[in-house]
Amino acid sequence: MRRREFLALAGGTALAAQMDSVLVHEHVLVDFVGADQISPGRYDPDEVFRIARAKLEELRRFGCRRLLDCTPNFLGRDPELLARLSDAAGLEIWSNTGLYSAANHKFLPGFARNETSAQLAKRWVAETRQPWRPRFIKIGVNRGPLDELDLKVIRAAAITSRETGLTIASHTGDGAAAMEQLEIVTNEKVSPAKFVWVHAQNERNHDLHEKAARAGAWVEFDGVGPKTIEFHLQCVGFLAGKGLARRTLVSQDSGWYHVGEPGGGEFRGYTYLYTDFLPRLEPAQIPILMWENPREAFGV
Ligand SMILES: [Zn+2]
Repeated sequence: MRRREFLALAGGTALAAQMDSVLVHEHVLVDFVGADQISPGRYDPDEVFRIARAKLEELRRFGCRRLLDCTPNFLGRDPELLARLSDAAGLEIWSNTGLYSAANHKFLPGFARNETSAQLAKRWVAETRQPWRPRFIKIGVNRGPLDELDLKVIRAAAITSRETGLTIASHTGDGAAAMEQLEIVTNEKVSPAKFVWVHAQNERNHDLHEKAARAGAWVEFDGVGPKTIEFHLQCVGFLAGKGLARRTLVSQDSGWYHVGEPGGGEFRGYTYLYTDFLPRLEPAQIPILMWENPREAFGV
C-alpha cells in the first residue's frame, strides 16, 4: 500500500500506524475439539496459511512488528505453520509453551492429570530448547477459587518461568483467580512482573485491576473489538488515571481459523485496534501501550 492510500485508510491513526508495535494476544488458528480428540490432521495447513497470510500482511502494513500467538498446545498450537507465516508476512510470530486448564479442563491431556507441577514444568522447559523456541508461557485457569488442576498448572508455569525467565500469560477467569495466581507466582520466587493477567476485561471491578497492577503484575485488556471498545477505553483510562499505564497491556484476541468450520469460518482481522481504538487515546499513551510495555512484559 502506498503511503497516501494508507493515510486515507487509517485517517487519524496515521501516527500510530507508522510506529512500530507489538500485539500481545492474538490467534492464528484454534481447534476447540478437546485434548482427547485433537490431531494435526484435522486441518489443511496450506489453507490456513493462505487465509491467515492475507490478514497478517494487512496487519504488517499498520506497523506491527511482532504478534504473540496465544493458542496453547492441545488447542491447535502449530509452531511450524507460524514460522511459515512469519517468513511470508514479514513480522515475528511468537509461540508458547504451557497448558490450558480453563474451560473445565477440556483441553488438558491425560498426562497433566497424573504428573506433578515439577514434571509438567520439566516438559515445558524442554520445549524451550526446541528449534522453534517458545517465547512465553501460556496457560489458562478457571474462575477462583482455583481447583487442584488449575493450581498445578500455575505452579508449573511459575517453575518454568523461574528456570527460563519466560513470562507467564494466564487466561484467567476472574479477579479472584488473578490474585490467587499472583500469590502463587510470588511464593515461587518469581517476580510479579513475569505474570500477565490475560482477559482482565472480564473482571468488572477496577479495584482488582489496580491491586494487581500495584503488586507489579501486567493487566491485559485484550478483547478490543467493536462491541467492547468503550469498556476497554474505560479500563485503560482507569489504570492510567492511577498512574499505572506502565502496567497495562492491550490487544484484540482476534483471528482466527476455526478448525472444523468450512474455510475456517469467520477470520476476524487484526487491525481494528489501529483504526478505531488507538485514535481515541492520548497520543503519548500509544507508544507505551503498543511498544514499550509489550517489550518490557515479554522481552525484546
Ligand atoms: Zn485468546
